[in-house]
Amino acid sequence: MTAAAGLSEPRVIPHLDMDAFYASVEQRDQPALRGRPVIVSSPPTQRGVVGAASYEARKFGVRSAMPSVTAGRLCPSGVFVRPRMEADQAESRAIMALVRQGAGKHIQQVSVDEAYVGISARAPAGSPDARLESALPLARELKARIRQERQLIASIGLAPNKLLAKLASDFEKPDDLTLIRESEKVAFLRPLPVRSLHGVGRVTEEVLVRAGLRTVGDLQDHRGDLRALVGSWGPELKRFAFEQDDRPLDFGEEVKGISSENTFLRDIDDRPTLRACLWEQAQELAGKLTRHRLSAGTVQMNVRCGDFTTLTRQWSVEEAVQEAREIYRLGCWVLGREKLVNRPLRLLGLGVSGLREAQAWQLPLVFPA
Ligand SMILES: [Mg+2]
Repeated sequence: MTAAAGLSEPRVIPHLDMDAFYASVEQRDQPALRGRPVIVSSPPTQRGVVGAASYEARKFGVRSAMPSVTAGRLCPSGVFVRPRMEADQAESRAIMALVRQGAGKHIQQVSVDEAYVGISARAPAGSPDARLESALPLARELKARIRQERQLIASIGLAPNKLLAKLASDFEKPDDLTLIRESEKVAFLRPLPVRSLHGVGRVTEEVLVRAGLRTVGDLQDHRGDLRALVGSWGPELKRFAFEQDDRPLDFGEEVKGISSENTFLRDIDDRPTLRACLWEQAQELAGKLTRHRLSAGTVQMNVRCGDFTTLTRQWSVEEAVQEAREIYRLGCWVLGREKLVNRPLRLLGLGVSGLREAQAWQLPLVFPA
């Protein structure tokens, strides 16, 4: 990890996030899908999990990591298309190459379609707002090049730190270009739901809302100690509510992934036993992700048969997962889709990769009543 830029040094951090990435790639490559509710998944008649949904499909409440059958029920007019992992990975590389060309090599790619761009070194002296505004031409250029050369839409947020930059890129999606000025920071954050703060997951949100804290403004005004609600993350949550975020950009080696595997004493094809094993692995991985404040964009299954044939298959989702039941559900689905258990297994392995910072305040499993 690189040294943190000092808090005293005003920074400009563009955050680039492709709009409905996987679904948009499909709509670009198949013009008949444009304007239609596209759901990247297996058909709703089969067991499966949604990888991504176009904006048209999101209007029906379709979200990634949701069972395909639920998506089909919410959105009967949905067009289900099968994912093309290789095409999506290639597209991601092409986009990040464009960003590097335009912005220099200092980018922190945080997922297949998302990156922070480090440009503080080139920001001119002057007021923080002037520095932010000086990054506007670069942001416009990146958006224009991605549109021209990849026929895809990127949203970009410009702000002095990662927390705000990510919120800014999300603010008026799709096709967003939002700059959060120094004088606008507090007003920008106040009305947002607590869930929009970096790392506030579903569970944390429930706890905060039960305590009457619905918006970031509520958190700012809260007089009590947030530790009573969210444990040791309280102080950091409070700092984030006041947009204080000095997390540095990390240009170092990304953590590749974590995995768990079991080798069986005798080869096994008994489904309940394999499912129980997978569930334990999913819980172990979810625990590690939570402790490291990470979530995963890709779930991978490894199997080895009695004759040592080894197969690895994976599946990516647009909104990263952290919970054991989501990882388990994705793992089960990869096993089924790829027919990986067509003979007894010697080894079953579950892994997650595409790790990104997230869920900073996913609650500890035990917290004060
Ligand atoms: Mg995106």
